Amino acid sequence: MPNAAILAVGTELLFGQTVNTNAAYISEQLQLLGYNVLYHFTVGDNPGRMKHALALAFREADVVLTTGGLGPTQDDLTKEMIAEEMGVKLVLDKEAMARMEEVMLSLGRKNYTENNKKQAWLPEGAAPFYNTAGTAPGFALERNGKTAIALPGPPREMEQMMRESAIPYLAKKSDSVIYSRVLHFYGIGESALETALLPIIEGQTDPTVAPYAKEGEAHVRISSKRASVEEAAAAVNLAAERAQALAGAYLYSMDGEEYWEVVVRLLREKGKKLAAAESCTGGLFAGMITSVPGSSEVFDRAFVAYSNESKAELLGVAQETLDLGGAVSGPCCREMAAGALSHSAADIAVAVTGIAGPGGAIPGKPVGTVFFGVAVRGADGEPRVSVSGKNFRDRGRRVNRRVCVLELCDLVRKELERD
Ligand code: ATP
Ligand code: MG
Repeated sequence: MPNAAILAVGTELLFGQTVNTNAAYISEQLQLLGYNVLYHFTVGDNPGRMKHALALAFREADVVLTTGGLGPTQDDLTKEMIAEEMGVKLVLDKEAMARMEEVMLSLGRKNYTENNKKQAWLPEGAAPFYNTAGTAPGFALERNGKTAIALPGPPREMEQMMRESAIPYLAKKSDSVIYSRVLHFYGIGESALETALLPIIEGQTDPTVAPYAKEGEAHVRISSKRASVEEAAAAVNLAAERAQALAGAYLYSMDGEEYWEVVVRLLREKGKKLAAAESCTGGLFAGMITSVPGSSEVFDRAFVAYSNESKAELLGVAQETLDLGGAVSGPCCREMAAGALSHSAADIAVAVTGIAGPGGAIPGKPVGTVFFGVAVRGADGEPRVSVSGKNFRDRGRRVNRRVCVLELCDLVRKELERD
């Protein structure tokens, strides 16, 4: 299995102004291609240190991918340093020049300054990777058993060049492929999930089964590295089926879908419409549901009823209910769910009211106290409502609200699977 290192170039990365997302993306792709990623290096736009970092990377790895510093300006030096390190000179690439002139002239002649031409020079003997999302070309250069792959810094350009040029190039050099699937679970912690999946985790080297926690849910990545995609996929699919048999009660997606995507898909399959009454989530649930393409077919409306007044006005929650138990209570949630159903054209209405924190806790109701309701139309036309109370661990306002959205999705899925 080939060894690889990534060298991200840019002083802004060292300052913390830009997060090195390119390294994460490239690593993930390399992993899928069957490469062993050993190091991530980051260096500023300084020729001496860049040369040093390149030498270090090449000492440790056979393939070094760089990102950044391919542009037209004085501080873009990556190409020059790679050429120096590998002992080749730069030569003009006519195709790169022609492509660049075309792009630059289409943008207007005044943008085409002399320094742009620098981009058309590539190390002698390099395989050019033409840039279809920008101007600076990248390349692959092989010398003495080592391979340098140079990619641009802007993430969109880098990703496009990876897809179009670098991945096909790297795939030819690798003797194996990795196939993986991510399973999403809700309602079970990472450690409990690991325990449940022990029969397929323990003593296994391929496929590997790796659970990890993910803001209120648990994911499991199943990967296999084999000589062909078909072989790897067969091994992964078998393990996924076994995971389903072991912890299926908590499994909501076998293919890495988000919970709201699953909910929209199930609603479409069942031909049902959804409404929501949201207090502590303030519309986040509706936001996630409507982030899914096609949700207009299944999502009717949401009532963002944050204040007590709005719960009474929009949803018909009784003043007495609010006076007696407060807005964060089972009875209030029940009336919110029933109200959302009767004030909409939906088949299922969900409701949520709780304390997202950091303030707002009251005696007996700490941050993380949340009530959930589900209302459906009974045979007599009257709403049939069920309510549940939860005491979530306080994970900070943002995650608390996200967990509420996941729970609402869980309730909708379970309701849909009931009939
Ligand atoms: P350009 O032709 O735009 O100058 P370049 O290849 O020289 O391209 P850089 O100048 O190093 O690339 O970076 C351009 C922009 O791309 C940076 O301002 C930054 O926003 C983004 N960028 C660079 N490197 C990374 C990285 N490793 N991760 C995420 N974004 C990055
Ligand atoms: Mg640049």
